[in-house]
Amino acid sequence: MSQEIFIQVAIPVPMRQLFTYQVPSALLTQKSILGERIIVPFGHRQVIGIVISIEKNPPINKEKLKSIISRIDSNTHLPSSLLKLLTLAANYYHHPIGDVLQQALPVLLRKVEPLKTSVSLYWQIKEDCNFKQLEKFKNGRAKKQVQLIQLIENHHKLTWPEIRTLGFTKSQLKNLEEKQFIVAIEKPIEIYHWKESDLNTTDKLSLSAEQAVVVSAINQSTDQYSCHLVDGVTGSGKTEVYLQAMEKVLANQQQVLVLVPEIGLTPQTLNRFEQRFNLPIFLHHSGLNDKERFDTWQNALQGCAAIVIGTRSAVFSPLPELGLIIVDEEHDGSFKQQDSFRYHGRDIAILRAKQLNIPIILGSATPSFESLQNALTNKYHYHQLTKRAGNSVQAKIALIDVANQPLEFGLSKPLKQLIKRTLEKGEQVLVFLNRRGFAPAINCNECHWIAECHRCNKPYTLHRSQGLLICHHCTSQKRIPQQCPDCGSIRIKPVGQGTEQLEEHLADEFGSYSTVRIDRDSTRKKGELAKRLQEITDKEHQILIGTQMLAKGHHFPDVTLVAMLDIDGALFSFDYRASEHMAQLLVQVAGRAGRASKPGKVIVQTQYPQHPLLQDLVNNGYGHFAQQSLVERKMAYLPPFGYQALFRAEANYPSYPEKFLRQLAQTQISACDIAGPMPAAMEKKGGKYRYHLILQAKSRPELHKAIIQILHECQNNEWLNKVRWSIDIDPIDLSW
Ligand code: ADP
Ligand code: ZN
Ligand code: ZN
Repeated sequence: MSQEIFIQVAIPVPMRQLFTYQVPSALLTQKSILGERIIVPFGHRQVIGIVISIEKNPPINKEKLKSIISRIDSNTHLPSSLLKLLTLAANYYHHPIGDVLQQALPVLLRKVEPLKTSVSLYWQIKEDCNFKQLEKFKNGRAKKQVQLIQLIENHHKLTWPEIRTLGFTKSQLKNLEEKQFIVAIEKPIEIYHWKESDLNTTDKLSLSAEQAVVVSAINQSTDQYSCHLVDGVTGSGKTEVYLQAMEKVLANQQQVLVLVPEIGLTPQTLNRFEQRFNLPIFLHHSGLNDKERFDTWQNALQGCAAIVIGTRSAVFSPLPELGLIIVDEEHDGSFKQQDSFRYHGRDIAILRAKQLNIPIILGSATPSFESLQNALTNKYHYHQLTKRAGNSVQAKIALIDVANQPLEFGLSKPLKQLIKRTLEKGEQVLVFLNRRGFAPAINCNECHWIAECHRCNKPYTLHRSQGLLICHHCTSQKRIPQQCPDCGSIRIKPVGQGTEQLEEHLADEFGSYSTVRIDRDSTRKKGELAKRLQEITDKEHQILIGTQMLAKGHHFPDVTLVAMLDIDGALFSFDYRASEHMAQLLVQVAGRAGRASKPGKVIVQTQYPQHPLLQDLVNNGYGHFAQQSLVERKMAYLPPFGYQALFRAEANYPSYPEKFLRQLAQTQISACDIAGPMPAAMEKKGGKYRYHLILQAKSRPELHKAIIQILHECQNNEWLNKVRWSIDIDPIDLSW
């Protein structure tokens, strides 16, 4: 006879605890309830909970405990290893477990409403299509449609998310459907066992000696944890290393997880994976809708997905047969979530590899200082790819001193000359400016009034094409004033440059060439980024203007001049990580130049050409720069030599967060330094006053012990209900 049991359940509420419920015997079945989604009463609501553990002994207050309402037996059980990982992550980041689990679940599974069973749609060549006509069509002029149909032919079937990520539009797809060349078929989830022959090993490149060493090191450790840092300049063949390292794992019927930065998944990358492996590849990124995300999740869980490629939160994909994790561009800031559950995707990935005893590869041309330090102290295997594959050469960086020369729209004379000459040779130019909009401020030429967002006390950015002033900190908007509100003058002018203005100016100056701008504003529309990138590849544009969006993973083989304007801010930032990020950005942008056999040039305009950081970076390269900086960090016990946690608090009045944090700082803790409370660098944002408190320790256990003590005391903090606060473990951005 079965008996009721008691379970510990994670519930989506901001409390750092589990809740105990009773499972009536009527709801007990053969199937284990661990990891299952269940519906439970909570307050006056019904919510989805996840079963974390089963109580061995009935609790003392068992009569008072509520019963669960129902179990949801829909093949969406979280595997126990994933549950364990999420629990570890919640503890490490001191974040409420219920919220951690919620974030790891696809949106559709967070709802109490029953799930409609999902089928994936695949597009394939119509069996009874008129092949004669198809051949004729392929010789026709609808270039993109022809490309698309060839891709579908090559891969037998493609899903819409894949097609979209490869840079095609829905209308191109619909056109092919209307012509009766292709058809969508519904394919319910089924377990798919791939064969070794599905791996296209004939197309693989023969590896350079450096590459071969890496692949064999990874291959030798497929059944144990090992972390491999692949430190290789852009174009040195890291992706090829990933592909060949994956082969053995896939041949072994295991799954591979590939993490890429936000917007770092380019059509080129996906295409390379698709071409090499004729296997089910599933995508997970912010461009997918809820249903598509669930589809990936479900296929991952059932073991049908051989490869999952995705951004940060893909690290929580349920992959029962996971055999290898790859984190591409591991230094990228987008791996760190910057609100609520502030985890680092790369760090969770390492934790997961350890837990599962599998290898993990971190790749970058500019490794984070954390990873580099771990590599230098042999915690990771350190592999360097020093040469670019083929005969392409790494571009040299040169500085142009702009301290004493007039700039026109932010451009110096020598730089303009270089742009002109490059264009005349028929090559492309990339101009990098990390500031979108038309101008970062407008002011009154008579009385020097500046239009400021009163909610943030920061200048509004002028977006002239939209006719708006927009605050980049809180997104509030305002019409452009015709008159100065202080003195009534109509001489209101933009100050400084943004990408919009730069594009306008370059288009004026080099009228016979076409410009294209890539930033968050110009690529907001779905598919727009892929479209613009394709146009660049097709050489429809000669002048590329962009923000750091351009620095991520794209290949521009015909760009031979990269110019970077205005990077000086980072040289004098109070944030000790600013120089690391500046160096990474600079080297990454520089890496876009001269990918093919044409040599590239990289020009950096600066007011401080003698600055030691810049000099070191330019003369000795990123590796040297990084090691020098590590020496400095070590002397100051800064990460990765010390461990930090940042408490943030904000409220409508500055005294609240200040007092809240001051009280936290008074907790009796041992072996930890406390700095603050102090106003955040962005002291006011969206009308809220913000304060920081930084905790620093020489070891992780010490740090976590102190945090636990503080969190315990926090419950009695008299300002608790007056502030919004959060905790950030291993913060990477102290400026806000
Ligand atoms: P990364 O990922 O480091 O930027 P990729 O793997 O994309 O580098 O390689 C850059 C270019 O070099 C690609 O066009 C790739 O096909 C080519 N390549 C990589 N490895 C080899 C190799 N062993 N032999 C020849 N070409 C290679
Ligand atoms: Zn004025
Ligand atoms: Zn604002």
